[in-house]
Amino acid sequence: MIVVMKRSASQQDIDSMIQHVESLGMKPVVLTGTERTVIAAIGDERVAGVSSLESGPGVDEVHPILAPYKLASRELQPESSVIRAGSLTVGNGHVGVMAGPCSVENEEQIVATAKAVKAAGASALRGGAFKPRTSPYSFQGLKEEGLKLLATARAETGLAVVTEVVATEDVDIVAEYADVLQIGARNMQNYRLLEAVGKTSRPVLLKRGPSATVDEWLLAAEYILDGGNPDVMLCERGIRTFEAHTRFTLPLASAPYVQQRTHLPVVMDPSHGTGHTALVPAMARASIAAGADGIIVEVHPSPDHAMSDGYQSLNFQQFEDMMTECRRIAAAMDRKLGSDA
Ligand code: PEP
Ligand code: MN
Repeated sequence: MIVVMKRSASQQDIDSMIQHVESLGMKPVVLTGTERTVIAAIGDERVAGVSSLESGPGVDEVHPILAPYKLASRELQPESSVIRAGSLTVGNGHVGVMAGPCSVENEEQIVATAKAVKAAGASALRGGAFKPRTSPYSFQGLKEEGLKLLATARAETGLAVVTEVVATEDVDIVAEYADVLQIGARNMQNYRLLEAVGKTSRPVLLKRGPSATVDEWLLAAEYILDGGNPDVMLCERGIRTFEAHTRFTLPLASAPYVQQRTHLPVVMDPSHGTGHTALVPAMARASIAAGADGIIVEVHPSPDHAMSDGYQSLNFQQFEDMMTECRRIAAAMDRKLGSDA
């Protein structure tokens, strides 16, 4: 932490800041310049309650040196993490492909979709049983019945199941059926829920909140890691901007940027990130070219009749065509796509 004192700071202000830094368990190193004094506070600034330094008398600016997250950072773990859950591998040269409907609707729909995405090379089945919907009047998901149908689809295909948990009280039941727990964008800052999934042994797919900064997203991951669960994947699913031609704006640079800052794998969601079926394959290709460790894509047997997010879902043929294109991009990046060995 670097504390820059104002030009007008008195010796008393400087002495009081030195004492303050010491009281936080950090070592002050005073650099007396010709115009200003700078105090370097050496120690773990993340645990020291440093925001109080900013309001000290005579303080102009305070600059942190370390990333605010610790367990998620590459400073702590330089090598990239690889997440494995049944048929799914994300990282270490494997681009994980999670595909399936926005919502689980019935047995025929989820089993047919699981078989189709598996045949096209997906490595996991996605599908929401508990749905966080913007309107309370929209379909809220089949809940436990949906979890059972996902388990049926897994038994039929061998695909690992990725499904969302929306509430702390549902964590146990969802973890019983799911291979990967999805934390939705709307819940990225539900800290009690993050702590609860941090106590499970299931890998977590943590979606970015549409208005969250990267630091807030990584601090949300930190909650799960700090809870004792090391298996966290970050999912960029688009953010809210002034632009209205897409449902959200998908920042492709999140993949390489986040990979610089953290060892956790990054999964891109071109479905929610664009909100238009026609744009999904291009953004899936671009995500893989940008170095993403995985993609999550909405696929439905009949998108026109989907109970949620049909307008951004691919049908089986569109998914197969997308996978053929993505395979070529993955090969160019020296990566394997989905279930490819
Ligand atoms: C979903 O994956 O269907 C979903 C609800 O996503 P998000 O939380 O990113 O909106
Ligand atoms: Mn959806």
